[in-house]
Amino acid sequence: MANVDLNKIEEAVKMILEAVGEDPNREGLLDTPKRVSKMYAEMFEGLHQDPKEYFQTVFNENHEELVLVKDIPFYSMCEHHLVPFYGKAHVAYIPRNGVVTGLSKLARAVETTARRPQLQERITSTIADSIMEMLNPYGVYVVIEAEHMCMTMRGIKKPGAKTVTAVARGILETDEVKRSEILSFIQMK
Ligand SMILES: [Zn+2]
Repeated sequence: MANVDLNKIEEAVKMILEAVGEDPNREGLLDTPKRVSKMYAEMFEGLHQDPKEYFQTVFNENHEELVLVKDIPFYSMCEHHLVPFYGKAHVAYIPRNGVVTGLSKLARAVETTARRPQLQERITSTIADSIMEMLNPYGVYVVIEAEHMCMTMRGIKKPGAKTVTAVARGILETDEVKRSEILSFIQMK
């Protein structure tokens, strides 16, 4: 939060309220700029963190088979409209030489990456590339499904529409059989 200028956000929110024809001095809105500034500091705190940091501590396990953490919930902000998009991330990798990370670290990396003005495509590739770089696994497969408020509350208004992005790295780029195995695990209830 040290790098966030709360006062500047407050000023900006006040200006937006005025610009849309509101009275920022009416009772219900008096504390809104302050509340929004604190909320933005929280929602964008990932800007000041690097997801790769979570993979600095690794373990050595005698395991070179698939690791999949699925249904990781996340909330992000579309960088085109500054409205939320949210959904689930599924992160899979195949460790090399038994180098694995803590399971919760995968979820933390998703959260950190999501808490910035973002694109779903970029969250997906950032997670995949961070794992490739830090753990040097045989392969990574990241699948994200999300609903974008900019598609549901404005513009084409399509509530329920889901966007799916997937990024494969390493052997999972070419191993279709392994990828479909991972997809069937993701779909398993
Ligand atoms: Zn958008």
